[in-house]
Order: sequence, then structure tokens, then C-alpha cells
Amino acid sequence: MPALTTGAHPALPQGIVGQGLIRTVPGWESRAAYEAGGGYRPGLRGAALIDAVAGRGLRGRGGAAFPVARKLAAVAARPGDRVVVVNGEEGEPASVKDRWLLRARPHLVLDGALRAADAAGATTAYLYVSDTAAAASLDAALAELDHLPVDVRVVQVEPGYVAGEETAVVNAINGRPAKPSEKPPRPFEEGVRGLPTLVSNAETIASLPAVALGTASRPPSFLMTLGGAVPRPGLYEVPFGTPLGEVTEVLGGLAGTALRDVRGYVMGGYFAGLVNSRGHGLPLDYDALRAAGTGLGCGAVTVLGPGDCAVGAAALLLAYFGRENAGQCGSCFNGTAAMAGVAAALARGEAGQADIQRLERWCGFLPGRGACGTLDGAVNVAASLLREFPGEVRAHLHRPCPLCAEADFLAAASPFALSPDSITPPAGVLRPAAPRPASHAEAAR
Ligand code: SF4
Repeated sequence: MPALTTGAHPALPQGIVGQGLIRTVPGWESRAAYEAGGGYRPGLRGAALIDAVAGRGLRGRGGAAFPVARKLAAVAARPGDRVVVVNGEEGEPASVKDRWLLRARPHLVLDGALRAADAAGATTAYLYVSDTAAAASLDAALAELDHLPVDVRVVQVEPGYVAGEETAVVNAINGRPAKPSEKPPRPFEEGVRGLPTLVSNAETIASLPAVALGTASRPPSFLMTLGGAVPRPGLYEVPFGTPLGEVTEVLGGLAGTALRDVRGYVMGGYFAGLVNSRGHGLPLDYDALRAAGTGLGCGAVTVLGPGDCAVGAAALLLAYFGRENAGQCGSCFNGTAAMAGVAAALARGEAGQADIQRLERWCGFLPGRGACGTLDGAVNVAASLLREFPGEVRAHLHRPCPLCAEADFLAAASPFALSPDSITPPAGVLRPAAPRPASHAEAAR
């Protein structure tokens, strides 16, 4: 896997604790280092914090982009005890941001979890992860804290594309398989132990301390994993609205003719499909990207260069969806397999016009038919291939391109996958010497 670097866009404050989420820490940020930067200080609480979150326009950073204040208020309004879950199960293989935050800045995430629990009226906070190093980092951070106002527990599950879906999260914590279930009820109505539950992504939760303390970055920013055909792939903090081409050039290090050679982008991890080279000019903003037929999702973008074929990339992604769906919904199980089959045949030069018409038909009626968004993600890939790369699709009818002729479309288990292990400097891969403190953690399921 390529080595990843970290950094912030030049328009953002560099390395100031409490403003940017990216802060260069030598491996692992201790409680003392976090507090020295202002962490754990008292700030806005309760309804005042929820109002500030609403004013900031903070949306969930796991992919769905749901307004965070509405989720918080919905849980806070329910009677009785409530639960908060920090969702650090980063199922998108092209994204590393949550694992980096959990590994390198666990106190930032914990500070956010405590503030979220306070605002939601929760007495328990779960830290839900699949990454062993992230779990170890959280355990070590918890061991540095005492007299916590809520019961904080680490739950570690097996990784999986669907394991981070909010109902899968609740199911796993309740002792069932980490697979999505039908909604309603949604977790805010009936979640962990049947209690109203806020399930919120790790980056989202890590954004709360700065909002509570009034130190959130101006302009508002998000964590972006930039991978693929760039000289400096990495994890970057980027202002919302920055054109994708600017990020590719300024942070990714791709300039001049190399930038003009970009064939396109895979957007939102795997979920939001492909865009062609018009992606250079698209602002990295929820609404602008949605209007352009794509999405920001979890903020992971893969650059497709001269060595990549969009048809081949789509075939790899659809094969992944065909393998990774939870096999619960017939339309998803059969639909992803069928789309993957056509995409693989197209890449091999074995598909005809009738296959493309079938793909178009499926893209019309499959969206929304799964219990979770996985089927929609697969449709996004297939539909965007047809929309953004019609010339490449035509060129593959009856004959593979030279790149696809060389490719093995079943070989890549997780295409364009990145690992936080490859971040330079290392992102706090820390293993505590002591076992997990019983009062703060529960055994991995
Ligand atoms: S839509 Fe697909 S991944 Fe989601 S629950 Fe149904 S079968 Fe599983």
C-alpha cells in the first residue's frame, strides 16, 4: 500500500489544537498533550451545544451527511435513559480518517463523546471499532482518565463494509451479527438495549469539542483521504467548497500535464460512484456534489490516472459490492451480483449492447430497495460509469482495453484500499501493557 502523509490545506490554521482535526502528534496524543492544547475544558453544554452544532451546520461525516444537531436533539427529546455510540468502524476501504483519529487523537474523540453524551442525556457511551490499534489507543486513553461522568465502553467487532451502518452497529452492541436491519425503528427510537441511541461517526464526534469551545475552524473543514494516482496520497484537512482539482494539485502534488492526464475520480469511498475529469472543477461540498450527481460521502477520493481504466475500476468496485453485501435482501444480493457480472464482462470485452441496456434498467429500479445503502452504492458505481464514461463503455463492447486485458477483476479484495499503518509519521499505533480497565471497557465480541 502507498505511504500516506497528513496535512492541512493552506487556508486552514496549521497545527492548532481545538481548531483543525489534523494535528501532527508524535505517534499518540496523551491526555497531557491534549489538555495543554485546551482539550476537556468546560464549554457549551446541553441545548446550547446543540444550537451551536446547528449553527455550524455540522453534518454526519460517516457518509450519510445527516444534520448532527437534529440527531442529537431527537435523542435528547426521548424520555428515560439514553445511549451514545461513537461509530469508528470505517468500512470504506479507501478511507483512513476515523482510524487515524482514533489511533492518534483518542482524547479528542473521547472529549467529543463525553460532550455528546452530556447533550443527549446519555449515561453510557460506546466506542465501536474494528481496528485493533484504535481499540488499544482508546483503552490507553481511558486508562489516563478517572471519574468519568458516564460509563464508557470499547466494543470491537470484525471489520466489514456493512458493519458501520447504524442499525448494524446497534445489532452488534446488542450481541447480534453486525448486519443492518429494517428501519423503523431507527436507533434514536430504539437502539442499544432498546434505549434511544445516538450513533455518530468518529470524525463527527471529534468535531464537537471545538464547537463547544468556540474554536472550530473558519472556514469549516473536514478530513479527506486522498488516494490513487497522486504523488502525495494522504489524509488532509480541507475547507468545504475547495475544488477537487485544487486538492489534487496543492495537497496531492499533481500538477501540469499530470493533472490534465487525470481520467476521473472515485468519490465518497466507494459509495458515490465515478466522475470523469470534470471532477477537477467540482467543489467539495455536500450539496454541490449531490447536484453534480455524485457525493462527498466519508470524504475519501481516489484519483484515476493514465494507468487506470474507468470500466476496470467500476468492475472492481462492483465485484467488491457483490462480495461484501450482507446477503439479507434479495434485490441487493442478486442486483449487486448481476451488475458485477455485466461490468466484469464489459471489462473483458465480452459484453454487448443488450447487457448495457440491462445495466441501465437495473440502475433505474434498484435504488432504495435494500435495507441499507450498500445496494445504492453499487448502483451509483454502475450508473456513473454509464453517465460519465460513455466513450470508454462503447470502446469496451466486444474488445477489452489494454489495461483491462491485463487485469484480474477478482484479484483485488478491496480495490484502492488504504491503511492507517502506512501514514508517515505513524498514527499512534499503541498497544497498552495493561489489560483493558474493566470499568471502562468490555471484551471484544
Ligand atoms: S441492502 Fe445489501 S448490504 Fe444492506 S442489508 Fe440488504 S443485503 Fe445487506
